[in-house]
Amino acid sequence: MLSEFDLIKHYFDRPVPGRATLGIGDDCALLTPAPGMQTAISSDMLVEGRHFFAGEEAQRLGHKSLAVNLSDLAAMGARPVAFTLALALPAADRAWLEGFSRGLFALADAHGCELIGGDTTKGPLTICITVFGEVAPGRALRRSAAVAGDDVWVSGTLGDARLALAGYRQEPALAAPLNAADLAAAGSRMHTPTPRVALGVLLAERGLAHAAIDISDGLVGDLGHILARSGVGATLDADALPAGPVLAAQPLALRRAFTAAGGDDYEICFTAPAASRAAIAAAATECSTPVTRIGRIDGAPGLRWTDAAGAPLALELASFDHFK
Ligand code: ADP
Ligand code: MG
Repeated sequence: MLSEFDLIKHYFDRPVPGRATLGIGDDCALLTPAPGMQTAISSDMLVEGRHFFAGEEAQRLGHKSLAVNLSDLAAMGARPVAFTLALALPAADRAWLEGFSRGLFALADAHGCELIGGDTTKGPLTICITVFGEVAPGRALRRSAAVAGDDVWVSGTLGDARLALAGYRQEPALAAPLNAADLAAAGSRMHTPTPRVALGVLLAERGLAHAAIDISDGLVGDLGHILARSGVGATLDADALPAGPVLAAQPLALRRAFTAAGGDDYEICFTAPAASRAAIAAAATECSTPVTRIGRIDGAPGLRWTDAAGAPLALELASFDHFK
């Protein structure tokens, strides 16, 4: 049998030299912040049956658990430094721990983000990660910073994760069941999202964007947080929303619904002055992250939609809410 401490030592305590002054093994880890930098901190919890299906493959769960946290740092423009991992496990299953830690560390190493501590207990499968990042004072991209006249931008594509969910559940909204290749392609967006860290860091470091948020519950709801915090409104072009490659082949109504309010996208929505357009395009090219301009911030509160021709559209869309 694997003891709690054997488990930590074997799967999570790695002899890699990192940024932390003291990593796993004591009552606390010790981090020494880079001189003059602020620490950005965020936690995200993933609960089996709530955020992922029971029996989900361990390796991609390891990836996603950290990816959703890195996405929060990206949305703030902070560079990842370290993270902690609190795990409730129903059993000390070696194959599961091997896969989970592989997926987790592959992404952690790609971002130079070091595991510095955590907690391990028996219980229903739950994964809670806290990430620590660094950002220069005054550079963090806050939700409250959107200004009337700003462009609204989104990274990557939206809606394929939501389409995969519809495919797995065989939702009646789908005109036809997804074929296996499409379901796998859309499913990869759901299972292994790409946190847009490099883009967020460039936007912040170069002072190109005003406000930003990562899209976890759907664009409408998440942009809504920016609008509320900033005391502004927005007008978006429903046909400019970049659909994922599988969703792009679906009927217009589904495309609009899933790009605007699908969720689980982990793209960044940000606002920026029109004067930043060329520099934003250059930054996007530099970090190989496509960005699309989808509308503008208005002084009048509320969210309004138009089609590609600029004609007003009445779209009734709501984002995901755990308690609704
Ligand atoms: P304490 O009892 O002081 O909370 P623990 O005995 O739970 O500490 O943990 C021992 C060490 O292992 C601590 O440094 C803790 O941060 C680390 N640790 C525990 N669980 C994990 C985990 N899942 N991943 C990484 N480090 C962990
Ligand atoms: Mg202790």
